[in-house]
Amino acid sequence: MLILTCPYCGVSGEETEFHAGGEAHLKRFGPGSSDADFESYLFHRENPKGVHFERWRHVSGCGKWFHAARCTTTLEVFGTYTAQTSEPPQSIKDAITAKRPGWTWRDFA
Ligand SMILES: [Zn+2]
Repeated sequence: MLILTCPYCGVSGEETEFHAGGEAHLKRFGPGSSDADFESYLFHRENPKGVHFERWRHVSGCGKWFHAARCTTTLEVFGTYTAQTSEPPQSIKDAITAKRPGWTWRDFA
């Protein structure tokens, strides 16, 4: 069972209290971008076996969107944080690196 903690209201709950919203930290491309960039933004998503960053909404609580860092194989949650960030907080990156040596944050710029 996946247990998440909403970073806004602090409530922890099973995944059924939340709604998954797909991959987090997507770089958006719009008018004026190349066809390849726009296609990538629309259709290409990571599906890693391991550390993944996702968007979740607290539908049975405050209703706000947030980000979660978790492992797709063990369901271990490394942390949750507000959706108004362009990358995970350093504390979450450090927690992941401590448990998954060699892991690195990808560059979205
Ligand atoms: Zn909440």
